[in-house]
Parts: sequence; C-alpha cells; structure tokens
Amino acid sequence: MTRARGRLIALEGIDGSGKSTLAKSLVARWRRRGRRVALWREPTDRALGARAASANDDDPRLSSALFTLDRALHRPQLEALLAKSDVVADRTFYSTLAYQGSALEPRARRALEEMQRAVALEPDVVVWLDLPPAKALKRVHRRGGSRSPLERLATLRRVSRAYRSMADRGGWLVLDAEKSPRELVELADRALTEGATRRRRTGS
Ligand code: ADP
Ligand code: MG
Repeated sequence: MTRARGRLIALEGIDGSGKSTLAKSLVARWRRRGRRVALWREPTDRALGARAASANDDDPRLSSALFTLDRALHRPQLEALLAKSDVVADRTFYSTLAYQGSALEPRARRALEEMQRAVALEPDVVVWLDLPPAKALKRVHRRGGSRSPLERLATLRRVSRAYRSMADRGGWLVLDAEKSPRELVELADRALTEGATRRRRTGS
C-alpha cells in the first residue's frame, strides 16, 4: 500500500563536520515555524552504536553489520515518525557506506550497499556537510580515541572521498561546512524548503 509520508532529510559528513549542530538548529527553526518535524539519530541505540564504532578499526565488516543491525531494529520507529512528520536524520546508511564501505574491497562494498538498500529507508534528500578532514579533526580533537592523529586524518580523507563520490553520483545537496552555523542553517533551510515545494512525494 502506498501512503503519503513526511520527508526524510539526511545529514551526512565526517565527524566534526557539524551534522548534529545543523540538525538541531534546523529542527528548532522549522518547529518555530509550525512545521511538524522530528530529529533522528543513527546509530539509534547508543550501546550498540558504541560497539559498532569500536569494531571499526580492526574489523570494518563486523562494524558495518552492527550499524546495519541497529538500523534494521529501529526502522519501524523511523517509519512511525515519518507517518506523522518530516524527519531530519543525523547520519543514515550512507555513513556506513562511507566509513566501513570505503575500507572494504569492491565486492564486499557492493554487497554492503545491497544490504543497505534492503534494510534502510532511502532519504528523500541528502545534505553533505563538506569539511576538509584536517579542520574536522581540529574541531573534534577532544573526542580522541586510541588512534594517532595521522591515522585518523588518513581515515577521514578516505571517508571524505567516499562521500564526495556518493554526493556526485546521487545529486546530493553539498554545503561548505566551513561556513558559520548561522549561515549553514540559513542555506539548508532555503534549499530544503524550496525542494519541498518542488518535489513533494509519496513513499511506500
Ligand atoms: P558532527 O555531529 O558532524 O560530528 P558537531 O555538530 O558535533 O559535528 O560539531 C563538531 C564541533 O564543531 C562542535 O564543537 C561544534 O560546536 C563545532 N561546530 C559545528 N558546526 C560548526 C561550524 N559551522 N563552524 C564552526 N564550528 C562548528
Ligand atoms: Mg554528531
């Protein structure tokens, strides 16, 4: 059965690119305007997300499986939100493809992508916050982790390349994440509100 549903708006980008900041301010702005909109965050289960993240360095396949499990378990909750409002998602399956997928050889990466298509909801629009990895690392240096800054920089460069390629192929909205939070919420609001009137759609 086909039913009308809210729009799923995905925010993607490397750690520190400003997704959470923009997600909160966009949702706040739209709510003030009377728009029904919910904030969604992946990974949704924090404990499962922490396990998935800690597996990332040594075993990207296990890590991707755990992130995907979290996504599958919470899909009904996301669908329930979409039945009654728009949703701004702070990360989606594209994060799994960018982080873990880019660490896998091509065949495993394609399999991972097919799995996401089976498990995850395709966003109506994807916004990529494009920030040079070195700048992102400066913003999140306190989040640390066990890896050296050089290792982290190399990883974020790989992930950023993966995002760029998906953004090009998928026609994503690309925002220069070096702009101020105020400018970014303004730009995103304008682009996404115009988009909403242009391509209102139904989903299954
Ligand atoms: P993400 O969710 O993508 O990891 P955050 O929104 O948590 O990124 O932002 C990471 C850090 O950078 C935070 O300290 C935040 O205050 C800061 N920050 C977010 N957006 C910007 C921006 N546009 N310019 C400068 N600093 C920012
Ligand atoms: Mg965040």
